[in-house]
Amino acid sequence: MRPTFHIMTFGCQMNANDADWLARTLIQRGFVPSPLEEAELVILNTCSVREKPERKVYSSLGRIARATRHNAKTFVAIAGCVAQQLGKRIFDNFPQVRLVVGSDGLSFVPDAIERLRAEPVLRLCFTDFSDSYIERPLEITLHSRPVKPAAFVNIMQGCDNFCAYCIVPLTRGRPKSRSSGAVLSECRTWLEAGAKEITLLGQNVNAYGQDLAYGASFTDLLRCVAALPGLARLRFITPHPKDVSPLLIRAFGEIEQLCPRLHLPLQAGSNRVLERMGRKYDRTQYLGLIRELRAVRPDMAFSTDIITGFPGEEEEDFQDTLSIVEEVSFMSSFSFCYSDRPGTAAERLPDKVDATLKLERLARLQALQERISVAWLQKRIGDNSVLLLEGASRKNFGVGETWQGRDPYGVPVNITLSAGDGKIGDLLPVRVTEAKKHSLRAVLA
Ligand code: SAM
Ligand code: SF4
Repeated sequence: MRPTFHIMTFGCQMNANDADWLARTLIQRGFVPSPLEEAELVILNTCSVREKPERKVYSSLGRIARATRHNAKTFVAIAGCVAQQLGKRIFDNFPQVRLVVGSDGLSFVPDAIERLRAEPVLRLCFTDFSDSYIERPLEITLHSRPVKPAAFVNIMQGCDNFCAYCIVPLTRGRPKSRSSGAVLSECRTWLEAGAKEITLLGQNVNAYGQDLAYGASFTDLLRCVAALPGLARLRFITPHPKDVSPLLIRAFGEIEQLCPRLHLPLQAGSNRVLERMGRKYDRTQYLGLIRELRAVRPDMAFSTDIITGFPGEEEEDFQDTLSIVEEVSFMSSFSFCYSDRPGTAAERLPDKVDATLKLERLARLQALQERISVAWLQKRIGDNSVLLLEGASRKNFGVGETWQGRDPYGVPVNITLSAGDGKIGDLLPVRVTEAKKHSLRAVLA
């Protein structure tokens, strides 16, 4: 019987992308995806950026143990940030865990799993950081599932900005850029397999190339990817405002495939808090970037990340955050209560904000954002746009087939088409007819 596996993944898009690669590789090696209860191998791809996802990892380990208790052969591989942080210590508390792999160890997982299946008492741990980006075979040619129209490509790993609140430099190590040749070759493969959109990924994606002695800059890389045949849309996450160069701003005005949406983490609107966070930009500089980007690309929309209740944050600082959110008018934002992360500079800061106050500020911020987001979506009604069809919609709006796709801003759009009028990967000209809370409806234009 073929071995079965189940992957649970938490956290950022890079983790989701790593989980996709693992799934493809295991399928290539004869494994079959299965529900948790039937899995011989369970892979838990973890995140420790905030307290909440980290807690979820521990509750998941308990859930895995309960769900697979009837299957003595089941073992767990734990990867990602929590694995990097805890290393072999995980073995002490979780007997089912037999493989621990940190951020740079993912490419060893498939071989390690084969060894663990052959040697049932063995346990393995790979948490050393490497000096350079470790390439891994893409494994998409014999892949049984069809290629999705939107592909994600890692271009670098790690970060050394050491923002005071952030654990990433400790769990993902120093920045390591891939060679532009490897990035372009992966992009080409996805496009030849049918992808139309590519999102370049990195913890500080626009610092790409700064760690390489020779090679392309981030903007050079964007221009090379954009020139690949078959690419309709290009995006990247997550950039740091301090690394948004004049060349990158110019690129938004010149590269047609670059989508007019930028996720640009702000974190706070108060200069005092930004300085304590070690973000290396202030409010005026951030607003300056937004203005310059809108000047080269008037249809540009922005989304962001914000933390409430960073140590020492006063009501006045929080008001600065609310006012900048209004001023930029972000189409959407991810916002979080500050949580202490082990080993970070902010963990040692005094003046921690009371948990209730952090939550209360988060609720006020989210209420404001919701009002702005709803208004932004409403304003789109009547717009002509282009939809990249991603699959059948879970919603049904009556006669015909209902599809879901995304517009250039990444907003989910539902559309009803006559039977046979659409297929995954089609780019359709549409007109927006209705705005929902987080999505749009459209008709063919
Ligand atoms: N590289 C991105 C940047 O420069 O902003 C951020 C990536 S971080 C892994 C994802 C988001 O998690 C951050 O933008 C921040 O808003 C949030 N975050 C990180 N550490 C946090 C903490 N200790 N408490 C609350 N939120 C945190
Ligand atoms: Fe963390 Fe982003 Fe700062 Fe790097 S730039 S330390 S990933 S918040």
